[in-house]
Amino acid sequence: MENVAKGFKATLSSLLIIGAIFLGVMETQHFWLAKISIFEQSLYGLFIITILFSSYFSHSSIAFLSAILGLFYITINTNMAWSNWLVANNNWLVVNGFLVCGLLGLIKDRGVLSVHGFYQLILIVLCGVTAYLWLFTSDVFLLFLKANEYSITWGAYLPIEVPLFTVILLLLWRSISTASLSVVALLVSVLVWSFEHYQLLDLPWSITLTILVSYYILVVVVDSYSLAYRDELTGLPSRRALKQLSLSLGSSYTIAMVDIDHFKKFNDKYGHDIGDQVLKLVASKLSEVKKGGKIFRYGGEEFTIVFPRKSLVQSKQELERIRKLIAKYKMVIRDPKRQTKEERSNGKSNNKKVSVTISIGVAIRSNKQNFEQTLKVADQALYKAKKSGRNNVSV
Ligand code: GH3
Ligand code: MG
Ligand code: MG
Repeated sequence: MENVAKGFKATLSSLLIIGAIFLGVMETQHFWLAKISIFEQSLYGLFIITILFSSYFSHSSIAFLSAILGLFYITINTNMAWSNWLVANNNWLVVNGFLVCGLLGLIKDRGVLSVHGFYQLILIVLCGVTAYLWLFTSDVFLLFLKANEYSITWGAYLPIEVPLFTVILLLLWRSISTASLSVVALLVSVLVWSFEHYQLLDLPWSITLTILVSYYILVVVVDSYSLAYRDELTGLPSRRALKQLSLSLGSSYTIAMVDIDHFKKFNDKYGHDIGDQVLKLVASKLSEVKKGGKIFRYGGEEFTIVFPRKSLVQSKQELERIRKLIAKYKMVIRDPKRQTKEERSNGKSNNKKVSVTISIGVAIRSNKQNFEQTLKVADQALYKAKKSGRNNVSV
């Protein structure tokens, strides 16, 4: 559910931003129209950079899409062997674009120069075949209806709009459920491609593609950044992000080290997968920390909270609140593997309620101490909290 909200936010904000950019560019034609040749010439370089960059960061969907759009741009600007065929078969081009975006939204991003990349390329070629077959079949179907004097109101929408809306719905669902910026980029691409088809974008291709490809680069940068600075399991900023924060902190802050109690035993009792679910739930509860606390997954079942410009008393008060919140938090965990067939057919779920406690050590930065030293003091306080019976906050 949390992921869906995140996906919804990412999708909506990306669509709004990119929509605003297109509108802004359309409204300022007088500004850039005289310099359009600069965009036309630099676009080739931009395509090459995007393809290399996204391939390097294993964003195969963006890499393939950029390569296809690059090929398309070359085709409409130069007289390639297939240029005339493509002009004569515009519907195929349009539907193929939709299908390729839909396909790339369904398959996982992989290394481009790998066997997976090769399989993806084959699937992309198959999209072209599918688009051809689809248009052929829908033509035959429509002719059949006409010959037999049937009339269906949506018949005219069959060749283009049906695949378009199917792909839009598919990508909308994928981008909301995965909260992946690459999938949002595919959705944006389909929308731009269809807007161009309906001539709703009053822009030359060189400008449209410059915006689109620059946006792809941004997506790869943001995605790779969050991969490096976010913990995959909990979605919290990682230890590397904590290090980054330490470089920009002022001289007044407190650090809390948080550790789940007896988590090894918990794993032994319920299994590692349930342990993972609990780690996620604890992380989301810890994220409810107030007073400006910034939370990180330090590693394993340990978390760090940094309170910039807070006193020890203020931080301790907030940490006590969070500690109690977690101690009384009954976590509902799913265990599909252990569910028997009978339980499943009865519609009985095998959800369990479990709870854990946390111990916290907190320290304030004193004069002449650096971040690492303060963190060490917080760690010693955590040790004290464990020694004095766990489920408490120690200084
Ligand atoms: P204490 O109260 O003293 O902290 O006891 P503990 O068992 O929590 O501490 P210990 O450091 O001995 O063990 C930590 C355990 O946390 C070991 C490991 O099984 C578990 N753990 C660490 N990272 C993960 C993870 O990502 N997923 C799961 N499921 N378990 C983890
Ligand atoms: Mg530990
Ligand atoms: Mg522990």
